[in-house]
Amino acid sequence: MIIPPGDTVEPEALMRHTTIYSMCPACKAVALVQPLLGTYRCAACNYDYKALAQDDSVREAWMLDNLRQGPMFAIFVKHLHRVLLELPIEESNERVQAFAARHGIELPAPGAWSSKRIVLIALGLVLSFIGLVVLIGLLAG
Ligand SMILES: [Zn+2]
Repeated sequence: MIIPPGDTVEPEALMRHTTIYSMCPACKAVALVQPLLGTYRCAACNYDYKALAQDDSVREAWMLDNLRQGPMFAIFVKHLHRVLLELPIEESNERVQAFAARHGIELPAPGAWSSKRIVLIALGLVLSFIGLVVLIGLLAG
C-alpha cells in the first residue's frame, strides 16, 4: 500500500486492508485489487474500481467475468459489489446471487454457516441447556 507523503491513514483503514483478486474490467488481468485512499485500484493497470459503481453495464460485464472464475472470485465480487455500491450486506449479496442465477451461474448458498447462523445455533444450545437444568431442578425438587 503506497501512502503519498502528507496523507494520513487511520490504523482502522489499514486493518481493513484485505487481499482481493479480480479480473480487471480495463486490462483483463487477474490482478490484486488494492484498497487505496477510499477506493480500490487494479494493481496491474491502476484502474479505479469506483467507476463500476457508476456504470451498470461495465459492472455487470465485470461481475460475469469474475463469477465465472469460481467460488473464490464470487466472494471477491460480493465484497467489492457491497463496498463500491455502499449497500447493506444482505441486499448486496441478494443482488449478486440473483444476478448469477439469471446468468446460470451457481454460487454457494448464501450465508451457509455464516457467523449469524453459528451464533443462533450456539444460543439454541445454551437455551436447551438452561431448559435441561431447570427441568432437573424441578424433578429433583
Ligand atoms: Zn487492470
